[in-house]
Amino acid sequence: MRTDGTFIGIEVDDEALAAEPRLAGHLSQVCPVDIYREAGDGKLEIVARNVDECVLCRLCLDIAQLDVGEDTVRVIKLYDGGATLE
Ligand code: SF4
Repeated sequence: MRTDGTFIGIEVDDEALAAEPRLAGHLSQVCPVDIYREAGDGKLEIVARNVDECVLCRLCLDIAQLDVGEDTVRVIKLYDGGATLE
């Protein structure tokens, strides 16, 4: 899944979400500006109105790497030509 704001895009690997049920909850817990939300059915939602509030803290990248592996979550800097947060 991917949701773009004006300045930031957030992409989460759908296969990783299906394979690791804890990932949705972990992402919703770590993000300081509530970009991720775990729905009642346990599925992940990207909260579109919050996407541009991203503070580039990398916490979502780190927890996704621990849960699943590298490149599970991508934070895309649309204001920087689409460069990804490393
Ligand atoms: S980098 Fe930080 S603020 Fe941005 S989506 Fe990830 S956890 Fe949220």
